[in-house]
Amino acid sequence: APTRSLDFIREMVAEDVATGRFGRAPATRFPPEPNGFLHMGHAKSICLNFGIAKEYGGTCNLRFDDTNPLTEDVRYVESIKRDVQWLGFQWTNEYYASDYFEKLYEIAELLVTKGKAYVDDQTEEQIRTNRGTVTSPGTPSPWRDRSVEENLALLRGMKAGEFPDGSKVLRAKIDMAHHNMIMRDPLLLRIRRDAHHYRRGTDWKIFPFYDFAHGLSDAIEGITRSLCTLEFKDNREIYDWLVQEAGFTNPPTQIEFARLELDYTVLSKRKLLRLVNEGHVKGWDDPRMPTIAGMRRRGVRPEAIRDFAETIGVARKDARVEIAIFEHAVRNDLNMEVPRVLAVLKPLKVVLTNYPEGQTEMLEAQNYPHDVPKTGSRQIPFSRELFIDADDFMEDPPKKFFRLSPGNEVRLRFGYIIKCEEVVKDAAGNIVELRCTYDPETKSGGANSGKKVKGTIQWVSAPHALSCEVRLYDRLFRLPDPDDVPEGQDFISALNPDSLVIIPDAKVEPTVANDPIGSRYQFERVGYFYSEPEDSAAGKLVFNRIVGLRDSWAK
Ligand code: ATP
Ligand code: MG
Ligand code: MG
Repeated sequence: APTRSLDFIREMVAEDVATGRFGRAPATRFPPEPNGFLHMGHAKSICLNFGIAKEYGGTCNLRFDDTNPLTEDVRYVESIKRDVQWLGFQWTNEYYASDYFEKLYEIAELLVTKGKAYVDDQTEEQIRTNRGTVTSPGTPSPWRDRSVEENLALLRGMKAGEFPDGSKVLRAKIDMAHHNMIMRDPLLLRIRRDAHHYRRGTDWKIFPFYDFAHGLSDAIEGITRSLCTLEFKDNREIYDWLVQEAGFTNPPTQIEFARLELDYTVLSKRKLLRLVNEGHVKGWDDPRMPTIAGMRRRGVRPEAIRDFAETIGVARKDARVEIAIFEHAVRNDLNMEVPRVLAVLKPLKVVLTNYPEGQTEMLEAQNYPHDVPKTGSRQIPFSRELFIDADDFMEDPPKKFFRLSPGNEVRLRFGYIIKCEEVVKDAAGNIVELRCTYDPETKSGGANSGKKVKGTIQWVSAPHALSCEVRLYDRLFRLPDPDDVPEGQDFISALNPDSLVIIPDAKVEPTVANDPIGSRYQFERVGYFYSEPEDSAAGKLVFNRIVGLRDSWAK
């Protein structure tokens, strides 16, 4: 069991174990509907459900909540399995709610037999209007008092495909004046006579509503605690009613926790699907997407997502989480893990006028800073022509500019101190080259190596550097809450037009040439980068920016 202080859910599970309440080990499940890719909200739920199983010697099932034939697809099943495993979790059993249809049907017949369910001929629309309001009771359906025999015959007819979609539904018979609206004869089964279900084909005609499928699926699997988000709080009563009426002993109970909402993004499959379908992003795994596949493609490691989930914990109240907390987890993880290299995103040519033409020397460069417990070094080429970043030079610098400017000195990382002697411009007045001198005694080990200058900048040797494409990803939305837009607009209008900036010709030191695709680095002074897994190829280097070095988002 964990040593840190327990959240309210773990406290309950710990008590279950201590008291033997369920007579079985803690059993959780992660129940996605396969109608989209998993996002960071799901990651939170995965870490919670699988984490509890691991910590308390229990089990966690992966159950596909695949009860809607109109939206689900095997492609999503595959992506969900991949993402859960990538996050570092393995399920005890892989189950499908669609395998429980027969079992749920038996329970439906049982309820009818007990006089606890009836077939209603009202449309779903009529049922909604007749449900009443919080302050007034509902109107009982004219079909509410059908006999058990008639109900059974109709239910069998529904199952046999005798009735068209929408002509009948099975409802629980509870209380049309119940204070909890959900308990006013909730819908259990609907007809989808001709729909094609991705696993059941067209043989199955009646599909369960969420409430009917969910708790009973939990009960069938012997789940102990069914963890779900707060919006299902009012559903707890029907959950308990159904598992009770179906006759389960020691049935599971539901515990609700806060849904994750992250600033500057949306965590809803429906909205993410729109971004994909309308072409605002390149797909579910676009590195700007808050999906697990998007994070993976961007270069985030599963460790960072798990750390993030642990940092935010679980709470009983909804609250938006600042994206900075996630970015901090990502940086923290990469800082300890990935080697440093030198790269220049906006190359500006520097010619060292006193460095011998045609000469190359190798400089030793440490792969990790002193505060990272990893070692290793590499040799990087140095020559008369270099690239530095254009942002590291200013012709008329302000007082505290400690990088390069005319007549001033700067240290080249792992190399010499250079001094800018002349600025070369083209006809339009753009700076195209800096002519500098270097001090040969300022290299590490040289006579002047202790000489102090205020700034150190990254560089690459121009003839040796590799060209690469760099993709700078930023927040997908301009607003912390993308739904917070003026009347008549929706979250699409809050998209950040600069969420992707492509630099077609950046320069990186040649030591990365033979690293496998999918390698991660810190480009010193720039950020953390990932060699793009899909679009990189031999001779074509592409890097995704995973995250910058500090929170540099201009608000
Ligand atoms: P969406 O609104 O994105 O479709 P959902 O809840 O309908 O989400 P499911 O596939 O049903 O998606 O979710 C599977 C599990 O993940 C559920 O137990 C659900 O509670 C949990 N989950 C989904 N979104 C979040 C979130 N934002 N924060 C925490 N848990 C979530
Ligand atoms: Mg759902
Ligand atoms: Mg949903």
